Amino acid sequence: MSSQPSSRNDASAGEATATLIAALDRTLATVVAKASARTSQGKDIDAHQPQAERVAYFATEVRTAKALADYAAGEGSAEPYVADMALAFAAEVASKAAGQLDAHADDLGLVPSSIDEMLLTPAVRAAIRAGMSDGRITAIGRHQLETRGVNNSPLEEIAAMARDAVRQFASTEVAPIAEHIHRHDDLVPDSLIAKMGELGYFGMAVPEAYGGGGMGNLVMIVTTEELSAVSLAAAGSLITRPDTGSDVASLTCRAEPAERDGKKGWVVNGAKAWCTFAGRANVLALLARTDPNPKQGAKGLSLFIVPKDTFPGHAFEMRQPSGGSLTGKADATPGYRGMHSFTLMFENYFVPGENLVGEAGGVNKGFYLQMAGFAAGRLQTGGRATGLAQAALQRTCEYANDRKQFGKPIGQYGLTQYKLGRMATHIAAARQLTYAAARAMDADETIALEPAMAKLFASDVAVWVTQEGQQLHGGWGYAEEFPISRYVVDATVLPIFEGVKPILELKVIARNLLG
Ligand SMILES: Cc1cc2nc3c(=O)[nH]c(=O)nc-3n(C[C@H](O)[C@H](O)[C@H](O)COP(=O)(O)OP(=O)(O)OC[C@H]3O[C@@H](n4cnc5c(N)ncnc54)[C@H](O)[C@@H]3O)c2cc1C
Repeated sequence: MSSQPSSRNDASAGEATATLIAALDRTLATVVAKASARTSQGKDIDAHQPQAERVAYFATEVRTAKALADYAAGEGSAEPYVADMALAFAAEVASKAAGQLDAHADDLGLVPSSIDEMLLTPAVRAAIRAGMSDGRITAIGRHQLETRGVNNSPLEEIAAMARDAVRQFASTEVAPIAEHIHRHDDLVPDSLIAKMGELGYFGMAVPEAYGGGGMGNLVMIVTTEELSAVSLAAAGSLITRPDTGSDVASLTCRAEPAERDGKKGWVVNGAKAWCTFAGRANVLALLARTDPNPKQGAKGLSLFIVPKDTFPGHAFEMRQPSGGSLTGKADATPGYRGMHSFTLMFENYFVPGENLVGEAGGVNKGFYLQMAGFAAGRLQTGGRATGLAQAALQRTCEYANDRKQFGKPIGQYGLTQYKLGRMATHIAAARQLTYAAARAMDADETIALEPAMAKLFASDVAVWVTQEGQQLHGGWGYAEEFPISRYVVDATVLPIFEGVKPILELKVIARNLLG
């Protein structure tokens, strides 16, 4: 088996990738079956959390390797070095899995020698060596330097047109203000929101029958990527979503039936932390406890659309003529600036009855109504993370071409090329996983697993790639003058919001796989 880089979709790389994917598939099936049995079909995950987390992450990596391999063998086959990236990524997943399974064989209930039979066959070992060879990965890196890391991956026609148009919009309308918004913790300007609204960027994936753009999730993701590459905070959030923190059952904000000025509705009391864009917004989506019995947990929650006035700045206070109040104070954050995330306090705040989602039928159904919103938000975050990582790759390629040390550009050093090769490979993998999740959601909007995996993996890639990019910038990577310093702090929010990483792994992915 050749370890030479191919630059095109050559048969030997494709065959080696297929060998790896087949081995990963059978290994994952065994590992999931063992973990499922250990956790009583997922009911007992909490007694085996580290194991469940490991299985969830391994399954995510296997799905990612398959998404990139499918793309390399099909739609993306004309993309230079795509076959090398698919092989390199699958090889890295297999190599890591071999070490992890061996180290944790006792916990998983695996006989260590069985790892050789199901995963580390001679053909797989050869494919790992070929895929992870320095020559292959540095060649991918050199190609990135030559093309300055720009992403022109083949796409279906409408998505490709959307990418070109949004890339142009982002560079003329968002790029000039992105750095200022970050450094001054400004609010994203109304004029930008208005332009994005006119272009139909909000609600793109929502069917036309419900007032959306009806463009589907893939176009929404491609749009998100391009906007996030320029500013994660100012332009990358195309859909809003109420979130709840991990422990929904402990949510204390409560709503009680009330009547004000002859109008039936609800009175809300309590605090809500981390409500992004709550100052500028004129409505908030709020999950509040409508069943006072705390034992009802998530079953006692309802979803409200809470009307409010719009406020600029980092704090606001709204008083209703009937006596209720809503105050908000933005929590200062190192990154993800531009929308401001508020801690809110509701005191006897009146919400009209028609603002309960689902009206009478929506009482105590809020959490379930909310579930679909979680999946859509996670899918979009896969796109946000991919776009941000892509921006870091491009800025780093430009810097590595320009910066000279010890008499030549740092991009001419093998280690720089190797690092850029791995960065580009992981971004391609995150992108194809997210696109596959978008297509899967178009086919079935009720799915939860695929968007959660896309969010989990792409967020980790964004954190790692931005930090690698920062190191390749040396001291200038820490200077605000270079956007890579903003990308690093922006990226760190990605594994936290929309479901913090351990909760996503245990309560969404592991539950889905082991149940
Ligand atoms: C900038 C920013 C913007 C945000 N915007 C919004 C927004 O607009 N709307 C909104 O509603 N929310 C928003 N959030 C909140 C975000 O979604 C939550 O912070 C996130 O879901 C994590 O919940 P938590 O803070 O309750 O973390 P916790 O639940 O306290 O988790 C912290 C850690 O505890 C551990 N842990 C917790 N539970 C378990 C368990 N059962 N088993 C094992 N380990 C566990 C994990 O290691 C976890 O990482 C935002 C957050 C940030 C930082």
